[in-house]
Order: sequence, then C-alpha cells, then structure tokens
Amino acid sequence: MPQTVDIVIIGAGFAGLRALYSFREQGFSVAVLERDDEVGGVWNFNRYPGARCDVESFDYSYRFSSELEQEWRWSERYATQPEILEYIRHVADRFDLRRNIEFNTTVTGASYDEANARWTVSAEDGRSWSAQFVVLAMGQLSTPKNTTYPGQEDFRGQIYYSARFPREGVDFEGKRVAIIGTGSSGVQMTPVVAAKARQLTVFQRTANYSIPAANAPVSDEEDAYVKAHYAERRDQARNSPSGLGFKPDPRSATEVPEEEREVAFEKAWNRLGFGFALVFKDILLNEASNAIASDFIRRKIAEQVDDPWTRDKLTPRGFPFGTRRPSVDGGYFRTFNRDNVRLVDISETPIEGFTPTGLKTSAEECEFDIVIYATGFDAFTGSLLKPEITGRAGQTLKQKWADGPISQLGLATAGFPNLFIIVGPGSPSLLANVLLSSEDQVDWLTDLFVKARDEGISEVEATAEAERAWGEYVNERAKETLYMQTPSFYNGAEIPGKPRVFMPYSGGVRHYRLLMERCAGEGYSGFELRKERQKASAG
Ligand code: NAP
Repeated sequence: MPQTVDIVIIGAGFAGLRALYSFREQGFSVAVLERDDEVGGVWNFNRYPGARCDVESFDYSYRFSSELEQEWRWSERYATQPEILEYIRHVADRFDLRRNIEFNTTVTGASYDEANARWTVSAEDGRSWSAQFVVLAMGQLSTPKNTTYPGQEDFRGQIYYSARFPREGVDFEGKRVAIIGTGSSGVQMTPVVAAKARQLTVFQRTANYSIPAANAPVSDEEDAYVKAHYAERRDQARNSPSGLGFKPDPRSATEVPEEEREVAFEKAWNRLGFGFALVFKDILLNEASNAIASDFIRRKIAEQVDDPWTRDKLTPRGFPFGTRRPSVDGGYFRTFNRDNVRLVDISETPIEGFTPTGLKTSAEECEFDIVIYATGFDAFTGSLLKPEITGRAGQTLKQKWADGPISQLGLATAGFPNLFIIVGPGSPSLLANVLLSSEDQVDWLTDLFVKARDEGISEVEATAEAERAWGEYVNERAKETLYMQTPSFYNGAEIPGKPRVFMPYSGGVRHYRLLMERCAGEGYSGFELRKERQKASAG
C-alpha cells in the first residue's frame, strides 16, 4: 500500500529542504524522497578538492529564518563544499526536517491517476507514495555525464568523477594525476590538486573565461555588518536581475571612456567574481561591450601565464565572455607556471583512450595514477527525465519534452496536473542565484497549495496555450542576449542529440518574480484550477 501524504518532494537539496519546511509550516503532510543517505544534493556529491560556491556565502544561504541568518557564521567569502554541507545539515537538524525525509530512496517513476487526481510515486525498492502534489526539486546539475574512453576497464590506476567524489577523499600526494575538463569543476580543483600531486596534466577541450574569486576570510566586523543589514541585502539581491545584488553601471560599456572603463573592470576583477559580468549593463547583451570585457580578461590571463604556448592555449577565443558559464577561480591560470603542471589541448590532439597505465592522445601516451573526469552534467533536464513520469493519457514527460522542455513559467507543464518543478528549465535557474530563485518559487507554490486546500481545488494544471506563450517569450528574451551564439549547457549543446533549445529564462529573478506574482494575482493565469466536480470533464 502506498503511503499517503499531501505532497511528495523529490530531492533533499537546498530547494527540497526549503520546500519541506514551508509546506510543513502550512500543515501539509510531506514526504521528501532522497536517493542518498544525506541531505545537500549537489553539495553532498561534488566533494572534489577545491569545491566551493561561486556565489558569496551570505547570499548563498536561506532567507526564510532570521534566527538562522543571525546564528550561522560563515568563515569565508566563498564557502567551501564542506562548509556548505555543514550548513545544510545544520538546517536539517535545526528545523527537524529529517523526520520527513526518506533517505536512500531512488524514485523510478510517478504516474497520475486522473480519476482521483493523485500521483503515485514509486521508488526502486518497491515502496510507493500517494500524493495530491509532486514537487521535483532534483537539481539542474545533478546528473553527471558518464564520460568514458576506450580501454577504461583495463586502466590500472584510479578513476574519479568530480560529481561523485568519494566521501573519504583522495590522496594525491606523490601521484601523477590527470584532470579532464576545464569548466568550473576542473578550474576549481586544478590549483588544489597541483599543490599535492607529483605531476598534474590538465586536458582542455575549450579554454574558458575565468575571474579571480578574491576569496577571503569573513571578518567579525563584516559578519556583524551583514547581520545588522541582512534584510536590505536580501532585498537588493531579490531586486537585482542576477539575484546577487549587483547594480550594474546603467551605461553601455561602449559609451564609457576607455580609462574609466579600465578602472571599473580592474576594480571588479579584484573583488567581484561573477559580478565582473555585471559591471556595465550590457556585457551579456551587446557584442561590442562584450568584446571589450572579453579582451580585458584575455589581457589578465596573459599577465598570469609565463609560458607562451600555454598562455595561448589557455586564452578563450571565438565566443563571447559569459555565454558559456564562466568560472570563478582560486589561482587557476598561475597554477600552469608550476613545474609539475602541464596543459594538453585535446581539441588538437584528442584523447583516444586509456592504456593500462595512463591515457593516449593522438600525439602521445602519458602515465597516470589517477584520472579525474570533470566533464560536466546533463544539465537542466538530466535528472527530471530520469524517472518515468507519466501524466494524463499515459504520456510521459520524456515524450512531452522530446523537442525540449516546455512549461508555464518553468513551474509546470500541461498534461501533468499537480506536478511542479523548482528551478527547472524555463525559470531563471542557472542564470541567477539559484538558491534565491528556489525560495521565491517555494513561496509561490506554498500559496498555491494553501489556496487549493482552502478552496477544495483538486487539480492545478498549466494550459497548453500558456506554456506555448511562455516558451516563445523565453526565446524572445534569449535573443536579446548573446547566449545563443555559443554552444553550451544553457542551450543543450553539452550532450550530443539533446534538443538545442535555450533552457533558462534570461530576464532575471526580479522580473521573473513579478511575473509569478502577476500570475497569482490574476487567479493563477495560465493554469486551470479545477474543483472536484469539474475534474471528470477536464483534460
Ligand atoms: P562544465 O562546465 O560542463 O565543464 C565540463 C568540461 O569538460 C568542459 O571543459 C568540457 O569541454 C569538458 N568535456 C566535456 N565532455 C568532455 C569529453 N567527452 N572529453 C573531454 N572534455 C570534455 O562542467 P563543470 O565544470 O562540472 O561545471 C558545471 C556547472 O556546475 C558550472 O557551470 C556551474 O554552474 C556548476 N558548478 C558550480 C561550481 C561553483 O559554484 N563553484 C563549481 C562547480 C560546478 P567543452 O567546453 O569543450 O565542452
């Protein structure tokens, strides 16, 4: 017999825990189904050396409890993965959330019973749950790519994936190590591994832009200041497009005199991390402005790398800064000045496979004790499409989204009543502070569920018309930006054969929140809200 609850949440990461807290506060019975034995989602899995958040700790934290805000003490401007995991574990304990979480529970499917307007959610071990609402809080970067090379099974060394790093850590001391991939994960782990390993070889396919993190300990004065002004800080973040609180110069970079521009870029380079992309209002919108920013970064990279060949190879070219997710680094480029570190350009000399003792490219054979894949994820839809989710008339989500995800406001899709997605495709998601975005969406969903309960609404379903319009709007907004110029995980290019559509909403968290508020204010426009007696004739 399935267990009966009001709401099933899939995933006990930041979004899932916040949803559990808020739904439970309103008196709903909730079950959170989590595949691992711990909370934390990506912060539980991405334990690779050097993993830390690119969003400042004070902003990458929950806003729902001022007591929590006041009592938690972040130690660094950019928190490490262990500290973030400690934070989310603290939240789970502090708010007694674990009692509603089913750990070690991998969801294999969910199917909608149209006659009863309820979902049955099934787990790998045979257990199931019956719920009116299902909320998918499964993350956008939670299904790692399963990159392999021929001969891998015969390799005598150790192989690790950045997103499934062993809990007990890996000892690099005296080892010959390969890192494949130079996205945020590869860029973050490179300096840390280099400091321990005997030799480190980084296999790069595409050079990316990276900004220094300018990480530093949080002083007592800064901590006290932020805590005294937290409400303002949150407000500023929520009302900035990125959810990071940056207020761009309202001028185009092209309008600003060169000398003044250089000063602004230099200041941002030395302090702002991601905020570098937001120094002027149009860096991600206007090719000429972007070219100025890209050129500045290229000059900065050149200053950091001694060897001319390596410098050239590490220099990103051919795509605008920010249109692939830039990294925020802790000394990445300078690491290549170390004697024990070497770059291999696999766009020129591709990896052909493993040998029993290492890797073979089209040009050479190298021996390694450890090979680390930092090759990224099946982003946005990878985790959402893993379980077999079956809506009305036997249609699966995979079938519905065969040509790309389509949804009303990124929150729900027609044919799948009472099923909602947090920070999924069609919402600001990875283009903004995802934690802030998830709290906005949970607040919106909480109000909707309370309304449904109070008014006896048994079904909430996105309309086909609304999701078509939202898809068109998301595309229109994307066309205003430079994002579509570059193949990236923002547009499905990270997996061969994946639909090439722009996944996130690029209009910013503030505008998105206003649209959600408008939707609710209009009685949830773009959704059909059906009461018990209307249900049978619907669909
Ligand atoms: P990623 O950005 O997708 O980078 C993957 C890297 O692996 C790229 O350099 C890619 O090259 C390369 N690659 C992919 N498939 C390959 C293959 N078959 N052979 C060789 N190279 C291959 O992945 P990621 O570094 O894990 O980062 C993903 C996202 O996670 C980030 O953008 C960020 O949103 C998040 N993240 C955040 C943080 C943080 O907040 N600090 C840290 C880590 C990750 P191409 O570019 O040529 O495809």
